[in-house]
Amino acid sequence: MTTRVGSNNEWFEATVMSVTEESPTVKTFVFKTPHPITNIAGQHYELRLTAENGYQAARLYSATKAGTGKKELSLTIMNVKDGEVSPYVSGGLKVGDEVEIRGPFGKFFIWTDEEYRPVLLVGGGSGVVPLHAIFTAHRDSRSKAEVKMLYSSHTFEDVLYKDDFLSSPDVAVTLTRNVPEDWEGLTGRVTKGMLEVIVDSFEAQPICYVCGMSLFVDAITEALQAAGIPSTSIKTERFG
Ligand SMILES: Cc1cc2nc3c(=O)[nH]c(=O)nc-3n(C[C@H](O)[C@H](O)[C@H](O)COP(=O)(O)OP(=O)(O)OC[C@H]3O[C@@H](n4cnc5c(N)ncnc54)[C@H](O)[C@@H]3O)c2cc1C
Repeated sequence: MTTRVGSNNEWFEATVMSVTEESPTVKTFVFKTPHPITNIAGQHYELRLTAENGYQAARLYSATKAGTGKKELSLTIMNVKDGEVSPYVSGGLKVGDEVEIRGPFGKFFIWTDEEYRPVLLVGGGSGVVPLHAIFTAHRDSRSKAEVKMLYSSHTFEDVLYKDDFLSSPDVAVTLTRNVPEDWEGLTGRVTKGMLEVIVDSFEAQPICYVCGMSLFVDAITEALQAAGIPSTSIKTERFG
């Protein structure tokens, strides 16, 4: 639950504390915030840039982690080629720079340890950002429910949060391009067969969180339904 005083519609100034390169096109920014950050896993924030001529543009970015109650917010941002906002953030923001942020937002695509059902996370590209928040919140909670993840990435270099995801037996990564010779994971786009195997491996029917580009989300949702998951057990978030 959000406990900070004031409305989440109020913009606040946030200062870049660190920048970490997750992949050739994706960076994680940790911002110093004026108040403690208490978002639920899966929620997102709005980030606004103001140009010298006063022009403003804002985009939504999922929190990388559930809020820790510290005055710190972590966002992972992909540099979308020819995009209006993300190239300025991903290419231009450096330690000490200030941006405006408001939030958290989102009441549906969230996970707390009150959720008793097993969890299946399916993400593509930067769509794994809110899934990372859910995955780590689950890991750090006392939940006994199973969690498994299927992550579609173009290449090995593009895989985000390698430390958390590649070390976990609960995460299956499929590479869709340029598969390294020594790669032992899955290859190719997510198929109905891959989803059936993972759905059948759960002891009880999972609640599913699907995030990525719209076409990816549509295809996965259809395949999950074909695998027997009711639409009421599928939560989706579309990034573009
Ligand atoms: C709830 C929510 C949470 C989001 N969380 C994140 C996040 O954690 N990290 C993140 O990087 N992005 C996230 N996004 C996407 C983000 O809001 C922007 O859409 C993205 O940064 C592109 O903005 P832009 O101004 O650079 O491109 P725009 O000028 O807005 O769009 C340029 C083109 O890029 C396409 N596009 C938009 N997003 C993507 C994408 N992710 N990959 C490829 N093409 C894209 C658009 O469809 C459009 O055709 C989220 C979106 C939503 C709705």
